Amino acid sequence: MESTGSVGEAPGGTRVLVVGGGIAGLGAAQRLCGHSAFPHLRVLEATARAGGRIRSERCFGGVVEVGAHWIHGPSRGNPVFQLAAEYGLLGEKELSEENQLVETGGHVGLPSVSYANSGASVSLQLVAEMATLFYGLIDQTREFLHAAETPVPSVGEYLKKEIGQHVAGWTEDEETRKLKLAVLNSFFNLECCVSGTHSMDLVALAPFGEYTVLPGLDCTFSKGYQGLTNCMMAALPEDTVVFEKPVKTIHWNGSFQEAAFPGETFPVSVECEDGDRFPAHHVIVTVPLGFLKEHLDTFFDPPLPAEKAEAIRKIGFGTNNKIFLEFEEPFWEPDCQLIQLVWEDTSPLEDAAPELQDAWFRKLIGFVVLPAFASVHVLCGFIAGLESEFMETLSDEEVLLCLTQVLQRVTGNPRLPAPKSVLRSRWHSAPYTRGSYSYVAVGSTGGDLDLLAQPLPADGAGAQLQILFAGEATHRTFYSTTHGALLSGWREADRLLSLWAPQVQQSRPRL
Ligand SMILES: Cc1cc2nc3c(=O)[nH]c(=O)nc-3n(C[C@H](O)[C@H](O)[C@H](O)COP(=O)(O)OP(=O)(O)OC[C@H]3O[C@@H](n4cnc5c(N)ncnc54)[C@H](O)[C@@H]3O)c2cc1C
Repeated sequence: MESTGSVGEAPGGTRVLVVGGGIAGLGAAQRLCGHSAFPHLRVLEATARAGGRIRSERCFGGVVEVGAHWIHGPSRGNPVFQLAAEYGLLGEKELSEENQLVETGGHVGLPSVSYANSGASVSLQLVAEMATLFYGLIDQTREFLHAAETPVPSVGEYLKKEIGQHVAGWTEDEETRKLKLAVLNSFFNLECCVSGTHSMDLVALAPFGEYTVLPGLDCTFSKGYQGLTNCMMAALPEDTVVFEKPVKTIHWNGSFQEAAFPGETFPVSVECEDGDRFPAHHVIVTVPLGFLKEHLDTFFDPPLPAEKAEAIRKIGFGTNNKIFLEFEEPFWEPDCQLIQLVWEDTSPLEDAAPELQDAWFRKLIGFVVLPAFASVHVLCGFIAGLESEFMETLSDEEVLLCLTQVLQRVTGNPRLPAPKSVLRSRWHSAPYTRGSYSYVAVGSTGGDLDLLAQPLPADGAGAQLQILFAGEATHRTFYSTTHGALLSGWREADRLLSLWAPQVQQSRPRL
């Protein structure tokens, strides 16, 4: 195939396409827009809205986060925090020096109350003891960072092996020991939500410590996370983002001609589901890893180099969903922030796999109590893995009925009124996401995330930087987060800017 040569030869100006209007794509577009080197910039977004996995919905007389919930590690080193602060989206408390200095180590705080399925509350002292054990072991996994060999392949197996040794030293009665294991099982379920995986047995041990936790007490956006992506959108020239334009195939390494651009040739041509074609010199792909996994065989023409395709197959991408329940009256105490659910007959040391329809709800970790609703009370449950994907197949009525029965059982109050309504996320069924976020799976390494981030063509033959890759799954240390996604978008925009280095030196945009 004939090469188009250097992009500098493009007579009508360089054409850049960004595929996906999540925070990575918007970040890349914001960095490039208005720059004289990129007079033609478009973001093609499959859905009717920008933000992707940042999705705030008006509901229950307030705002709920269907996707990203917290700014993890809100402090100076976090670009999402910085940008949100710049846009005036954060409150005094979130911005305070005190908040920014808190070191959580990435661990979730202790529950305010812990309910067991027999209807009794679990002693918070026992819960705290198990949290210390669990998170101590999680911290210990860092020992294996860059180790040539690990005793077991996964985080889950490591935790279980260590817990097994602790159990041998427990001197309490059988009932207490069983309860301790059940509480630990609840922490395993929580860690599955954090890692976006079905089981911690799927999460690779050696690279686990590479994920980096920034200082700062996780904070939320009082008016919704999407306020951030809305501000980013508003900063782009009108019509930069083309909505409801799902991309079907990215044809690259070619010499494409389009009737609308007589005399010009382009190395890339982006074909949309509706048949429209957009020629480009550079395409920044920011679609979620779940989408890439599903459409790997058809999304790139010619197909991706084998190594890159293999990295896409190997990196983990799982499901974490939220279930919001609206109550007229709270059944929890006014200062309650987190309700934990413990299933007394479960243990991380036993491999029980009951039928999903009978037991899916046992994977639910419990509920975060959402503040700031005027006249109603809202709980937000979290559930990961195959059980979460099964939940997506149920109707609202089925989920509401099931969780009403669960709550009546754990509170020991068979007359506890049913929630008024339910709202759920369904990230696995979402055709342009196909899950929640990525993790480094057994069989993959942080190197696979870097490999995914490498632009094409890899061998330097043909026009340079035809396809660039951004999105949370391409950030080696901040994968699965909004700040990782934003940084990845900036990284790829900078890659293009450096190809145009002389101009960039003169007029580099601030963001
Ligand atoms: C339930 C949940 C909770 C989370 N909680 C947090 C949290 O508390 N804190 C945190 O930091 N992160 C959290 N995350 C992760 C965070 O939301 C993501 O890491 C981040 O938003 C990803 O941004 P992105 O731009 O890489 O991808 P996305 O936001 O997914 O953007 C990709 C875009 O590409 C579009 N697209 C896909 N296919 C095509 C196509 N063929 N053609 C055109 N467009 C296409 C999609 O519609 C989407 O808009 C959470 C995610 C979920 C699902």
